[in-house]
Amino acid sequence: MEKRLYNFSAGPAVLPVPVLERIRDEILCLPGCGASVMEISHRSKQFIEIQHAAKERLIRLLKVPETHDVLFLQGGARLQFSMVPMNLLRGQTAPAQYIVTGSWGKYALSEAKKEGPVNVLYDGASNRYSELPKWTELTIPADAAYVHWTSNETIQGIQFQSDLSVDCPVVCDCSSDFLYRPIDVSKYGLIYACAQKNAGPAGVTVVIIRRDLLERSNESLPGYLNYKHHADEDSMWNTPPTFAVYVLGLVTEWLETTIGGLDAMHRLNQRKAAIVYNAMDRHPGMYRGHARPVDRSLMNATFTLPNEDLESRFLAEAKKRGLDALKGHRSVGGIRASIYNAMPVEGVEALAQLMDDFANMHPQA
Ligand SMILES: *Cc1c(COP(=O)(O)O)cnc(C)c1O
Repeated sequence: MEKRLYNFSAGPAVLPVPVLERIRDEILCLPGCGASVMEISHRSKQFIEIQHAAKERLIRLLKVPETHDVLFLQGGARLQFSMVPMNLLRGQTAPAQYIVTGSWGKYALSEAKKEGPVNVLYDGASNRYSELPKWTELTIPADAAYVHWTSNETIQGIQFQSDLSVDCPVVCDCSSDFLYRPIDVSKYGLIYACAQKNAGPAGVTVVIIRRDLLERSNESLPGYLNYKHHADEDSMWNTPPTFAVYVLGLVTEWLETTIGGLDAMHRLNQRKAAIVYNAMDRHPGMYRGHARPVDRSLMNATFTLPNEDLESRFLAEAKKRGLDALKGHRSVGGIRASIYNAMPVEGVEALAQLMDDFANMHPQA
C-alpha cells in the first residue's frame, strides 16, 4: 500500500483513518446484509437504520432541540444558497439580511438576489475579508425574513467563534466548520453544511431547520427544492445519497466514541490551530497571516510568504516531507493549511516543524 500523506486539502478533505478502515472492512459486505451499502435499497431495513443512526448521532452531538429537524440533502452548499431564499424569502415582505465576510458569503448573496429583496448588512471587501465584524456592531432588523452569515470563510480563513442571537430567523452556512465545536442550535432558524469539509465525503448536505419555518415553503416550488417534502418524508422524498450518509454516520460515531463529543473536539481543534499559528508568529518575517489575529480560523490557516519563489520552494519542501495540498486558493494566494477535525495532531506538528525549518533555512527573509 502507498503511504498516506498529511492531507491539508480544503475539501473534499481528510477523513478519520478509523472511518476509512471501517469502510474498507465493510465495502464488500455490510455486516448482516450480504451486500455493500451502495447496493441495497434506501428503503431497506438496514439502510433506514443507518440513516436514523446518523441523524440520532447528529442530534446528540449538537443537542438539536425538538423544535428542529435534520435533513440529508444533495446539491452541496451551493444549492442551499438558492434553496434558502426560495423557501424562506419568496412571499415575504421584509428583505433578507446578508453578512458577507468572504467569498462564500458573496456567492450566497448573489443567489439570494435572484429570489427576492436582499439587504447587505455588512461586506468586508474593503479589508479583503481579513476581519470579521463584532455581533454588537450590526443592527439586524427584528422583522427581517432572515439573516444569513457564514461561520467560517474557508478561502480567507476567518471564523466567528460564537453564535449570533437575534429575533429574526438566523441562517448559517457552516459548511467548513460543521461539528468543530458545540453550538446552541436553538439560536438558529436554519443551519446548512455540505459534508465534504468537516463531516464526511461529498454528496450529502446536512440541513437543520426549525420546524415552523417549513410552513414558508410554497407548493409551487420544484419538488426537490421544497424543504417540507424532505422533512415530511424523513429525507426519503427521493433516493438519498446512501453511501455518503453511511460515511457521515461513521464520522459522527467517531466524534462521539473516539473523540468524546464536541467539547473535546473543540479543545483539540484549539490545540491544533495554536500549533500552526504559533509557528507562523515565531517567524513574522517569513509568514504573514491573511486573517486579523482575533478572527483566525481554527479550520483554515492562511498565510503568505515574502514572494512567490519562496512559496513554491515551501510547497516543494512540504511535498518532500509528505505534506500535501497546502497551496492557497488563487484569490488569496500563498498557503492554506486546512486542519479540520480529522487532521491528526501529528499532521499539524509536522507542518509547524516544516515552518520552523523553512524559516531557519532562509534567515534573510
Ligand atoms: C465549500 C463551501 C461551499 C460550497 O460547497 P459545495 O458543496 O461545493 O456547493 C459553500 N460554503 C462554504 C463555507 C464552503 O466552505
